[in-house]
Amino acid sequence: MARYTGAVCRLCRREGQKLFLKGDRCYTDKCSIERRGYAPGMHGNARNKKLSEYGMQMREKQKAKRYYGVLEKQFHEYFLMANKKSGMTGENLLSILETRLDNVVYRLGFAMSRAEARQLVLHGHFTVNGRKVNIPSYLVKSGDVVALKEGSRSLDKFKGSLEANSSRVVPKWLEMDRDNVAKVIAEPAREDIDLPIEEHLIVELYSK
Ligand code: SF4
Repeated sequence: MARYTGAVCRLCRREGQKLFLKGDRCYTDKCSIERRGYAPGMHGNARNKKLSEYGMQMREKQKAKRYYGVLEKQFHEYFLMANKKSGMTGENLLSILETRLDNVVYRLGFAMSRAEARQLVLHGHFTVNGRKVNIPSYLVKSGDVVALKEGSRSLDKFKGSLEANSSRVVPKWLEMDRDNVAKVIAEPAREDIDLPIEEHLIVELYSK
């Protein structure tokens, strides 16, 4: 399946909530959810639509995929990985998604959205343990050190993003020093992940 290239605000409207896919704009009254908080399409404004159990499970999966910008095949692979780990599969799934390098770059404040973080990683601006990594789906692990590549450190783009995101709280499983070098100090726990996802619905869907 190809990557979605349509209007991303439609994805938020489809899920009926903000997915913060556009960076700055998401925090202004230009946000489509603020202006048209109903599903896109001809019948999107119809009220009292009751979802079936399957529908709710499907919507939750779609929402998680859209938050992290992951396609179906890869998302399912993450589920299989999560299922093999000990502990709660749903929590494992979110923990794996959080450790994607593009998400880490976003969480550290180098990018305004996960989509932008993905682009920045693809363009080779980041290193993990001193080696350039340009794979957005790269999964970091405890002890890894994530940093801007030396040649990118002075770019105004990153200074601007870090300043604009200075009020964003870096999750406690990541630790960033004054030189903007970050260390992964633990696996992300469920309480570290501030996304309103009911992961048990995703597990139920894949367990059918
Ligand atoms: Fe979603 Fe952001 Fe668009 Fe609002 S502006 S609908 S939060 S992507």
